Amino acid sequence: MITEVKTKVYAGRLKDRASLLRSSSGGAFVALSDCFLDNGDAVVCAVYNYEDHATEFQLIENREERDKSIGSKYMQSKPGKIYKIAEDWLINHPEKRLLFVGMGCQADGFRKFAEMKGFRERVWIVDIICHGSPSPRLWKEYAESVEKKYGKITYLTFKDKRNGWKAPTAYVTAGGQEHLIKDYVKVFYNQCALRLSCYECPYATTERKTDMTIGDFWHIEETIPDFYDEKGNSIFLIHTDRGEQLFETVKVKLEYRLSDTKQCWQANLEAPTKRSEQRDEFWNDYQRKGVDFVMKKYGTTPLKTKIKNKLVKLISIGGQTLNPDLIYYVDYSERRAA
Ligand SMILES: Cc1cc2nc3c(=O)[nH]c(=O)nc-3n(C[C@H](O)[C@H](O)[C@H](O)COP(=O)(O)OP(=O)(O)OC[C@H]3O[C@@H](n4cnc5c(N)ncnc54)[C@H](O)[C@@H]3O)c2cc1C
Repeated sequence: MITEVKTKVYAGRLKDRASLLRSSSGGAFVALSDCFLDNGDAVVCAVYNYEDHATEFQLIENREERDKSIGSKYMQSKPGKIYKIAEDWLINHPEKRLLFVGMGCQADGFRKFAEMKGFRERVWIVDIICHGSPSPRLWKEYAESVEKKYGKITYLTFKDKRNGWKAPTAYVTAGGQEHLIKDYVKVFYNQCALRLSCYECPYATTERKTDMTIGDFWHIEETIPDFYDEKGNSIFLIHTDRGEQLFETVKVKLEYRLSDTKQCWQANLEAPTKRSEQRDEFWNDYQRKGVDFVMKKYGTTPLKTKIKNKLVKLISIGGQTLNPDLIYYVDYSERRAA
């Protein structure tokens, strides 16, 4: 029997600094998946495929394969045949347990499937806080356009931490060189490219039916300043008794702090992302003029705004408070990170 508990909140990050650096947030996924893989259990998670430029769910049984799933992929991932694969695996391994990690909608789908098939007691379900997922076709065409210009993409990251967790660098390695993908990330954040259902997401809340929710612990530098780490911070929201047991098991791998729903507040824990007023225009442009056109139109900052942003930065040098009249000019879509 699985019992729901009043949501408990922790801030945490991996003690292992190398894995923390590779992870998008504080490495909650590595910590949780280690606990299953090290016991011979399995993990279902999303892996990026460099051949067809799509992200798809896979069932994974060792750390080497799991490492391919590390990192946020800013596109809608596909279930593929994962339901059938997971069901067969659970039938063939009656003593073993499974961890599912995916976005709120995907995790809720998997939870219902596990309940329907009578597997729920053997499946731990963890969902990820989500700003919304862009169309997979948009990313695929973007990646193909990059490959035309620079050569084969061999590596992709949306959240490299070279400048710290708060200012992630998104780039691909194509033709052996790094190329920034700022334009795609800007489109992701300006809320044009998300799927329609994302604007009505019912999972944008702290109360969920999964065992645990993970994500970025945004604003931790203000709410728990003595626990902030510039290399990454995860949030853990615990919803069930077995979520609590799982957190007890992973604690050994983490630095952690008890927190609450007030400290960890972020927009997508309260409401779905708002639909952009430019969304229809964006998709019309995309259908008629293609991916390169929309990346230029919606994914770059006009020179006028750039100059104004520079001005604001200059004014704020020395930690002075920004002039509220000028804050208007800062392009927040670029500064906000998921
Ligand atoms: C599209 C998207 C939007 C997000 N929006 C927010 C947000 O608004 N607020 C917030 O706090 N966090 C958000 N996140 C989550 C955050 O970026 C990290 O992915 C999360 O905190 C896990 O980080 P980690 O360090 O524990 O593990 P990591 O190793 O960084 O994450 C790996 C895990 O993420 C899963 N994953 C990655 N991309 C996808 C995908 N496209 N579909 C399904 N699963 C995927 C993998 O299956 C794996 O389980 C978002 C992530 C994505 C992909």
